[in-house]
Amino acid sequence: MARRRQIYEGKAKILYEGPEPGTLIQYFKDDATAFNAQKRGTISGKGVLNNRISEHIFLALQTIGVPTHFIRRVNMREQLIRQVEIVPIEVVIRNVAAGSLTKRLGIEEGTQLPRTIIEYYYKDDALGDPMISEEHIACFGWASQEEMNDIADMAIRVNDFLSGMFAAIGIRLVDFKLEFGRVWDGDYARIILADEISPDGCRLWDVKSNEKLDKDRFRQDLGGVEEAYQEVARRLGLLPADDETSVLDFDQHRKKRGK
Ligand code: UDP
Repeated sequence: MARRRQIYEGKAKILYEGPEPGTLIQYFKDDATAFNAQKRGTISGKGVLNNRISEHIFLALQTIGVPTHFIRRVNMREQLIRQVEIVPIEVVIRNVAAGSLTKRLGIEEGTQLPRTIIEYYYKDDALGDPMISEEHIACFGWASQEEMNDIADMAIRVNDFLSGMFAAIGIRLVDFKLEFGRVWDGDYARIILADEISPDGCRLWDVKSNEKLDKDRFRQDLGGVEEAYQEVARRLGLLPADDETSVLDFDQHRKKRGK
């Protein structure tokens, strides 16, 4: 069989040509990077879990009318998606202070924000994804004003929906990153949600213990990285609850395994 054509390889995913024009196969790797790829490693089984978690979330978002690139999951590590023209902006939505916000503005980690903040970063690895304002986006034509309105509206809807979805399973949605793409219909472009939504690009804290259940475990060498991703999948109902780890004793389980 002929090897399929690779379109793009990123830090955590590979895109291959899809079976029909306008489609791609998105392959989830176990590779993990942090701090603009200065720290590299692998998280065993991450690709499989992120494929499932992202499928679950994108399908749920579709039920409330958020347009996404997701078509269907193909196998353990791959999903069929619509080909889009990626808008070169990372959209970060914050509900609680963490990460770069705490460093930049000296706000204590865990501070509940009085209102949700949306930030934009220019997608450019060589520049280290610098933070930008809507002025830069308009000035350099990275997206039109109409597209930015759609992006901000969708980001807020996704945040409201996911905050509730995670709260129901004892998880606080601290912050997360979204990417959007254009699909063309003749001369007319429409914005849809693209990329993935998984613990790689979200901060997810256990409501009771504040235990981190996301990539910060890798970034900060906290150990128990695989278990954290598994715990998110398990609480979403994507993995059978086994007797080794109950929903409530994640921390105990991690200590038992010496991580
Ligand atoms: N994020 C991401 N990719 C990036 C930068 C950030 O997925 O290139 C996510 C990150 O996981 C977090 C949120 O966006 O959930 C906010 O990240 P922040 O700006 O605090 O940067 P970080 O501390 O992760 O470098």
